Amino acid sequence: MDSFRDRLETIDAFQDEFWVRCPRCQARAIVRCLTDEPVSLFAPRRIACGQCGFSNNWNSTAIARDWHGAPTDWYFRYPLWLQTPCCGEILWAYNPRHLDWLADFVEAKLRSPHPDPQRGWSNRSLAARLPKWMQSRKNRAAILQAIAQLRQSY
Ligand SMILES: [Zn+2]
Repeated sequence: MDSFRDRLETIDAFQDEFWVRCPRCQARAIVRCLTDEPVSLFAPRRIACGQCGFSNNWNSTAIARDWHGAPTDWYFRYPLWLQTPCCGEILWAYNPRHLDWLADFVEAKLRSPHPDPQRGWSNRSLAARLPKWMQSRKNRAAILQAIAQLRQSY
């Protein structure tokens, strides 16, 4: 199943915050939604860098959401902060919560071939979207190592 509603719930899981590389100083900058409730896909966004003070606003009606393209945020298209080579691919996450979810998913694969029923529908949808190399048990150790490495960057 891949209904529009499912996709929205999937997006809602992690799209409220993107950690990216600042275009001016290369430090970590954060893209956040400017409205609180509900977090809408097309609500205004703002990027802010705590290092150099760079900031910019996004107000548009089109986003660049590509699950198979280069790992960037959907609004400004800056490279994600949390990305690293892994298994000949790029392991990436939008933010630490997303990275935690990936770690949980990869670890859970060892315990059970089925998703945890405690996790929401949105997370199951997201799991179904993960590339095959991330779902392969033989890559599990390498993926967890890459995640541990990324966690040292924040
Ligand atoms: Zn900066």
